[in-house]
Amino acid sequence: MSNVELKDFTSIREVNLLRIKEAKEQGGKVVGVYCTYCPQELILAAGAIPVGLCGTKEEPIAAAEEVLPRNLCPLIKSSYGFAATDTCPFFHFSDVIIGETTCDGKKKMFEIMQEIKPVHVMQLPHLKDSEAGLELWIKELHRLKKFLEEKLEVDIKDEAIWKAIDTVNAETRAAKDICDLNQMDPPPLSGLELLTVTWSRSFTADKNEVTNMLETFKKRLLEKKVNRPRPRARVLLTGCPVGLGTEKVIRITEELGAAVVAMENCSGYKTLELLTSQEFDDPIVALAHKYIEIPCSCMSPNAYRLELIGRMIDDFKADAVIDLTWQACHTYNIEAYAVEKMVKGKGIPYLHLESDYSNSDLESLKIRIEALLEMVTG
Ligand code: SF4
Ligand code: SF4
Repeated sequence: MSNVELKDFTSIREVNLLRIKEAKEQGGKVVGVYCTYCPQELILAAGAIPVGLCGTKEEPIAAAEEVLPRNLCPLIKSSYGFAATDTCPFFHFSDVIIGETTCDGKKKMFEIMQEIKPVHVMQLPHLKDSEAGLELWIKELHRLKKFLEEKLEVDIKDEAIWKAIDTVNAETRAAKDICDLNQMDPPPLSGLELLTVTWSRSFTADKNEVTNMLETFKKRLLEKKVNRPRPRARVLLTGCPVGLGTEKVIRITEELGAAVVAMENCSGYKTLELLTSQEFDDPIVALAHKYIEIPCSCMSPNAYRLELIGRMIDDFKADAVIDLTWQACHTYNIEAYAVEKMVKGKGIPYLHLESDYSNSDLESLKIRIEALLEMVTG
């Protein structure tokens, strides 16, 4: 792979859809996942293909609202809507679905999704620094392993899990390396380009291939010495997950002359510092230690998220922080209080936005983001 362009990431979805279809025709298995807490290593070790299913489009929401309450996070409604209308090919090809008890909306939605496909819900402890929490999580990972073995009719061996751990660690390192390039001033990647690369990763059928793509893309960026004009402001985005289709805040910020240099959310940096340690004897225990560290707002307390955002502000030389909450996401909404305090304590402006997947608030978002940028540039 000598040359990798941004368009190669843009087309990952389509290319891999064909591959997944072919793999299915030859008896391959596909496992759909919704959340970064799902240990993809177990799916890879089972010889199946993990695919990310989080809904990032508005279209299926109306269908979802026939079953789910309107006053629910758009990510949950979009995810369920795609399943209910059978309009997401990745959901269509999934043999089983893995969910987790993260936020209330998601866990209750999974109960209803069971009517469409088998959904295995992992019970996620919401307290990471406790022995009981870790014990429960280790048991849940064992329960997931058993579920995959039964449903996919395979025997998941420890060696296969360790191999998958190596694969995922390498991919995580490569993705982090790309994100870290934006610590440069000016940043070589716009926020939209960064999102394209990081978000598209979850649609790949071959993790080793995407690692090679990421490494080659990084090399190429460094060789090309991309020299963009210095942005009006360097913005850090945090909050709820964003994907292509729900990138309006990034788009508006960049249309206003600033650059979203980094994203502390699930499609961005939230998991990129977390590697599975090979120091443990048992790979399930090793995975449990890694995944329980993810700083999602469903964790309480969630100190690592604040620490991570603080460090990212310094490393990426952020001039301002935008914290995006999808409507009816209580955990990120409430946690915005602590994030604001921390960000302002570092002496930079902070903007909390609450929005949904529609375009009805584009003008007001623009006005509020412009006001934030004026605080930076005067
Ligand atoms: S924000 Fe939390 S619940 Fe949502 S995908 Fe990320 S880890 Fe999962
Ligand atoms: S954005 Fe918030 S409400 Fe929506 S699925 Fe994620 S944690 Fe739950």
